[in-house]
Amino acid sequence: MPLYHPSIYDTTVSAPSYWEETAGSLRGEWPALEGDQGCDVAIIGGGFTGLSAALHLARDHGIDARVLEAGPIAWGASGRNGGFCLIGATKLSITAMVRQYGLEETQRFYAAQQEGVDLVWDLCEREGIECDRCGDGTFAVAHTPRRFDELRAEGDDLTRIFGIPTRLYSREAFREIGHGGTEQYGALHIGKGFALHPLKLALGIAAAAARRGATLHGNSGVREWTREGATHVLHTSGGRLRARRVIVATNGYWRDGLHGSFDGRALPALSNIIVTRPLIEEELARESYRTATPIHNTRTLLFYYRLLPDRRILFGARGDTTGRPADGERMRAWMTRRLGEVFPGWCDVPITHFWRGLVCVTRRLAPSIGRLDDDPSVWYGFGYHANGVNTAPWTGMRLARAVAGEVEATEVAPAVMRGLPARFPLPALRLWALRGAYLYYRFQDRR
Ligand SMILES: Cc1cc2nc3c(=O)[nH]c(=O)nc-3n(C[C@H](O)[C@H](O)[C@H](O)COP(=O)(O)OP(=O)(O)OC[C@H]3O[C@@H](n4cnc5c(N)ncnc54)[C@H](O)[C@@H]3O)c2cc1C
Repeated sequence: MPLYHPSIYDTTVSAPSYWEETAGSLRGEWPALEGDQGCDVAIIGGGFTGLSAALHLARDHGIDARVLEAGPIAWGASGRNGGFCLIGATKLSITAMVRQYGLEETQRFYAAQQEGVDLVWDLCEREGIECDRCGDGTFAVAHTPRRFDELRAEGDDLTRIFGIPTRLYSREAFREIGHGGTEQYGALHIGKGFALHPLKLALGIAAAAARRGATLHGNSGVREWTREGATHVLHTSGGRLRARRVIVATNGYWRDGLHGSFDGRALPALSNIIVTRPLIEEELARESYRTATPIHNTRTLLFYYRLLPDRRILFGARGDTTGRPADGERMRAWMTRRLGEVFPGWCDVPITHFWRGLVCVTRRLAPSIGRLDDDPSVWYGFGYHANGVNTAPWTGMRLARAVAGEVEATEVAPAVMRGLPARFPLPALRLWALRGAYLYYRFQDRR
């Protein structure tokens, strides 16, 4: 039984996103797997994690890698996210992380997060990927006066402990360089990150991987996973792929039942995006909106937003917990109303796009990267907590290195994100746990 409504998993329908509309002719032809074929490393999932693993395996290690993607390449979250390339793939506070893993591993986690941002930038430069990079770092905006004090403390920690440059802006000062609105009580600039066109990035990595020798198959969902001795056999509707090693790169789109080791370990959650029509200068001026730097606010159920290169506003928020089309429509209406409440000057601006997709949460509240203890030929990377634009390509790169034997499995990632997360106690009731968490967060966000 899928956790969400079947439409959420329907790979024959692409997201009606602004990105799909503006990716131009970059969508390549990636033929489905046919007949019996073989390779060294089979990768399940053609998003940032799988594509980056394929690129790095082929380019840096000369390993024969193939990607099997259920939909068109980058059909999942990688082709439909907000395009915020930032640090922060965890819901653990710095204090909790230090308590659990120690200061050194916490510093390694933050170093890896920054390396992920740099990796995406370098991939674009090295592989000639044009993906409309813009903005400088990120702003965290306090949605209440109290949260401004918390931002001050967070900025101090980020700079003092991890060397990340930060700068605090009062409400008035941020209005001069960022924006106004009803939920703006000052902001913290975090000097690492930028924004981009995620589908162009994903398709760019796919093209680079193919150029460097990897093979990519679209419309090749793995329906069954069997073994013949040491060989893995991945069955799709059109063929079978035999491989010595497998990388699982399905993040929020994993469906329990394919391989028992992964069942019940991920909590997929819907994230939604609306996009306005292009705004004219006068409309932007109504909210003193002046920055292309990506922004999120301090709500736990946060709003994330950015000015797109053609002066539209992209506005993102959590989704519903059923995935039913009617609930999607309700979310669209709610987000449109909330956009108008946060930025009253835009309460009548038409929304031209609405879409949604699955992010992935784990019980450890951080990503999970590694190799199965009981089967060293199976690797995985998932659970980016809605922060995969930097973390997923980084994970693919690290998995490639580990598969190639360049780093030990025990060193594939900092301890904060190494190894499988605990299973959810009652996997069938995961969405009820999510509903409970949302209620609690809504209450908390009033502070
Ligand atoms: C609306 C939205 C907004 C977001 N905004 C941001 C943001 O601004 N910044 C940020 O950092 N992160 C953001 N994220 C999260 C980010 O997009 C993800 O963390 C990241 O893309 C995960 O990459 P991935 O390759 O691991 O997974 P995905 O891109 O989800 O790819 C997994 C793929 O696996 C395929 N698959 C599943 N099962 C099978 C199977 N059996 N056989 C073959 N293929 C299979 C799926 O079809 C899917 O394409 C957002 C996500 C969403 C949904």
